[in-house]
Amino acid sequence: MVDLKGQFEKIKDEVNSSIQEVLETTAFINGPRVHQFQKNLEEYLGVKHVIPCANGTDALQIAMMGLGLKAGDEVITADFTFAATVEVIALLNLTPVLVDVNPDDFNISIEAIKKAITPKTKAIVPVHLFGKCADMEAIMEIANEHNLYVIEDNAQGIGASYTFKDGRKAKTGTIGHVASTSFFPSKNLGCYGDGGAIFTNDDALAHTIRGIVNHGMYVRYHHDVVGVNSRLDSIQAVVLDAKLPHLDTYNKARQLAAKKYNAALSGEKNIITPIGNPTCQGICDTCDCHVFHQYTLRVKNVDRDALVSYLNENGIPSGVYYPIPLHKQKAYLDSRYNEADFEVTNQLVKDVISLPMHTELDDEQIEFITSKIKAFING
Ligand SMILES: *Cc1c(COP(=O)(O)O)cnc(C)c1O
Repeated sequence: MVDLKGQFEKIKDEVNSSIQEVLETTAFINGPRVHQFQKNLEEYLGVKHVIPCANGTDALQIAMMGLGLKAGDEVITADFTFAATVEVIALLNLTPVLVDVNPDDFNISIEAIKKAITPKTKAIVPVHLFGKCADMEAIMEIANEHNLYVIEDNAQGIGASYTFKDGRKAKTGTIGHVASTSFFPSKNLGCYGDGGAIFTNDDALAHTIRGIVNHGMYVRYHHDVVGVNSRLDSIQAVVLDAKLPHLDTYNKARQLAAKKYNAALSGEKNIITPIGNPTCQGICDTCDCHVFHQYTLRVKNVDRDALVSYLNENGIPSGVYYPIPLHKQKAYLDSRYNEADFEVTNQLVKDVISLPMHTELDDEQIEFITSKIKAFING
């Protein structure tokens, strides 16, 4: 699904020498290179504060802790996402409120958010799923109206830009009150281990969060709040610093691969490609609303599992993200949920299939993959 080796080959010298430098200086934790990466990422994103941490799941949890959300507060998020999003809500004894998504871009449905708001609602967590910006302008409007926090789960969307109605652009993760991201190796900006970060433009919140990631300490050995231990190490920071200058190029390569997949597959009547939606899906040349963390098709009137096996037999990896709606997962069952409210997610889990997507895909690979898909679909 990804080709991290091919990508590594191109940045090998820089990565190796920077890692060597970390080994020589032995500044493994909280060293200057972590700070340097933090500054570089702040500049790239156009955000005041980046707080590095150990992984994307911690980042989400710490963001919620920083906002002071309390047990019983309701947090609205998408039913169709990776489990980490709902997991941290539950871990903090907040009440997850899962809602349906859009059939076209797989992102949280604005109508469903509106319907789910109660007097206990405190926050909304949009996920920029598969790399496509959620409808942040509409989400921020709802949040302002109801006095809610917005926590962007940007684990899949780093580098994407959202365009507001007035033409203004902002990078995903800089629009809500706070955002989280993951540097897991296969993410669009991935390190060679675990890593994550929290972003915010709010000075006071950034200060709170810097303490939380470090055992609730603001002054050494004075623990003012209950914190956690969540750090990005220097070795991961130098890897990220080597990759960050290439992030836009990496994302462009993904967009180009998506365009080629679309060109080959969009004429097929049983395939819904990520194009032809109300928005351009990042396929146009003028915006970056989609950075294709995944390239995900919907297949109709096709035995999806047989397609997965067929591709596998032909040496083509594929993935089903995600096969089960979160509201049907044992850990997150809730008698308040009504199946009729999850019509889209319940269908998507049956239709979706993600194809190999990374920075090193070439025309020959795309041609091979799409021709096999067409051969299967057309019997
Ligand atoms: C990967 C991912 C996370 C978690 O990141 P980790 O670094 O693996 O903890 C959270 N949310 C989404 C949407 C993700 O894709």
